[in-house]
Amino acid sequence: MIVAGELAGRLADVRSRIEAAAERAGRREQDVLLIGVTKTHPPQLAQAAVDAGLADLGENRVQELVAKREHVEGARWHLIGQLQRNKVRDVVGRQVLVHSVDRARLADALSRRAEQLDALQRVLIQVNVGDDPAKGGCEVGGTLDLVAYARGLPNLAVEGLMTIPPLPPTGVDPLEFAQPHFATLRELRDQARERFPEVLHLSMGMSSDLEAAVAEGATMVRIGTALFGTRQDGPWRPEEDAR
Ligand SMILES: *Cc1c(COP(=O)(O)O)cnc(C)c1O
Repeated sequence: MIVAGELAGRLADVRSRIEAAAERAGRREQDVLLIGVTKTHPPQLAQAAVDAGLADLGENRVQELVAKREHVEGARWHLIGQLQRNKVRDVVGRQVLVHSVDRARLADALSRRAEQLDALQRVLIQVNVGDDPAKGGCEVGGTLDLVAYARGLPNLAVEGLMTIPPLPPTGVDPLEFAQPHFATLRELRDQARERFPEVLHLSMGMSSDLEAAVAEGATMVRIGTALFGTRQDGPWRPEEDAR
């Protein structure tokens, strides 16, 4: 983990990587939303990110997101990790963009809870582009059906697709390895968008491969290590605040 004072420099570095990649692709930097992934890190560091101008923050666990956000002002939150149906009520109605909807039953549960709260839940559909058993996401071949199903639910807004490519094998360039996976997600998004114009976003790209993601049209990149340094061993918990 880094100290808060290092953050401004790291943020500037990541933004210039995005800017350079966007320029090479003939895109605009402002069309790529930077999400700072604060998982395992204390809320003080998340707050320092917001204060440095990074308002969008992502967490991969519901409990950590819910506990941390109480201590951070001015952030917009993204849930980027797997969501269990029994945690749906901790998320809906709290202005969280859920990036990880990967099955019809989860979409049902989110919409039903949103209906109870008279809310609209914004979601992305997560796709397992590399067919990687270690990763969440629906199958590539089932993506368009799941998009159509989820957007047919009354209280969901399906705004795009998300993916986490498999880890590159040792010695393989992470950018080259990830690029075809990102291209697959873009093609799926383009197909979905022909029927449903609101399916716009591509949430893809992490610290080691953001250039490839931006080249393939990412509209959201999820960056942890490059901004906040090495992660702690486990999730942050309120009782460890003194750590
Ligand atoms: C942790 C995480 C990230 C950030 O990964 P880095 O390699 O540290 O940038 C991005 N997306 C998801 C879904 C994550 O869980």
